[in-house]
Amino acid sequence: MASQLGNIHLHSVEELANALADGTICCVDLMEALLKRTAALDKRLHAFISYDAEDALRQARESDARRKAGKMLSRWDGIPISIKDIIAVKGQPLSCASRMLGNYVSPYDATVIAKLRAAGAIVWGRTNLDEFAMGSSTEHSAFGITRNPWNANCVPGGSSGGSACSVAARFSPLALGTDTGGSIRQPAAFCGITGLKPTYGRVSRYGVTAFASSLEQVGPFGRSVDDVAIALSLIAGHDPHDSTSVRIAVPDYLEAAQRLTPRTIGVAEECLREGIDKEVEVAIRQAISFFKARGYGVRSVSLPQASLAIAVYYVISTAEAFSNLARFDGVRYGHRSSRAENAVDIYAKSRGEGFGEEVKRRIILGSYVLSGGFYDAYYTRAQKVRTLFRQEYLRILNSVDVILMPTTPTAAFAFGEKSQDPLAMYLADIYTVTANLVGLPAISIPCGFTGAGLPIGLQLLGKPFQEGDLLSVANFFQKAHVYHQLMPKDL
Ligand code: GLN
Repeated sequence: MASQLGNIHLHSVEELANALADGTICCVDLMEALLKRTAALDKRLHAFISYDAEDALRQARESDARRKAGKMLSRWDGIPISIKDIIAVKGQPLSCASRMLGNYVSPYDATVIAKLRAAGAIVWGRTNLDEFAMGSSTEHSAFGITRNPWNANCVPGGSSGGSACSVAARFSPLALGTDTGGSIRQPAAFCGITGLKPTYGRVSRYGVTAFASSLEQVGPFGRSVDDVAIALSLIAGHDPHDSTSVRIAVPDYLEAAQRLTPRTIGVAEECLREGIDKEVEVAIRQAISFFKARGYGVRSVSLPQASLAIAVYYVISTAEAFSNLARFDGVRYGHRSSRAENAVDIYAKSRGEGFGEEVKRRIILGSYVLSGGFYDAYYTRAQKVRTLFRQEYLRILNSVDVILMPTTPTAAFAFGEKSQDPLAMYLADIYTVTANLVGLPAISIPCGFTGAGLPIGLQLLGKPFQEGDLLSVANFFQKAHVYHQLMPKDL
């Protein structure tokens, strides 16, 4: 059937679902159009490490067959979503962008994937990332860099840079990423799209390769708040396979995104004072004025220890990474050195050859902060500060509905600008890590452009499990602006 919906790749998730429902398009048309676009453009952007076109088309045919038989699995049956290559998809490669896993194929589906399949979504593509999700630029992938669709000389952000790029370049209406310290929100900001990190425990982590288990969540990327809300409804919920997932009913987030409840916004003034790029500051202040002019209660809130967040994050996340990555030992799965001569050699050489530089740096740092003499000085102390952060944020969120701040201190930076200086790279996460340390939900939406044409992200943090409020405030802003509808030139 020839498509009657022009420029299929430009449509929102709801528009696509409606077009599938009234027969204007079929799912095979949709998937073929996206695959054609990807084949033509992804050579230069490299959003995907790999994708299995045949498997995607098979799923699309199955969706069409279900629809024909009147057996759709949900309203979103047939909607494609691309997946960060750190989330297990049965029968597909799970590389984590590491030589350590190379062409390892996952024997099972992560819970988020099982949930997407249960709704009839087309799960396709393995998007690029920083190795094991450690990084802020997707420069630390063993399989090459991903480029920012707005400027090919700039990074797309990271670690979920491939997922963000796949949505910004209109290869896929939706994507999944993971966010341990900003890896959904920061690339969403750099690529001019919407990205949400859910409350810790909202979404199952089963089948997601662990980097720092107490910090990370899977979350959606989409062009708009509505699209992200739809994806969140599909993946959220309790999972018996993940004891940290919480038994709280999953609301209809699309409906929540269209409601207008919260009216008070706390502005984190500290974030607008130091180390922030002038153009980012101006865009954020304009957003604040927008909310004020629309009758929102806007008040300043103080986040006094904000400057400690990066230090605390890098102590805790490296400690957890050190423990989690111990499983990659060259014995059970993944890369095994061919030069090993004895048992100890297998571990040392396999890990030495398999892991990249940034991953090794984190493992060394993690083993240091957990070692006998330093444990109390670093790890225990970081956990205490983390508790103080949580108390502070919950106290502030007693008096305001959401906290507003920039997503990042600058727009996308150039390749190589920070890759030789790990500390400079770590500072790119200064505004994002705290939501992970305290487990709160946070969203990034586009709120403007720099003079050089790079997108700027606005971040909103909400109360635990109140993603609906967050989505509704974000949507109120988004519906009054065009930033999310603009598209990189020459794509
Ligand atoms: N950029 C941060 C880091 O390098 C966060 C990564 C993430 O959220 N996965 O650790």
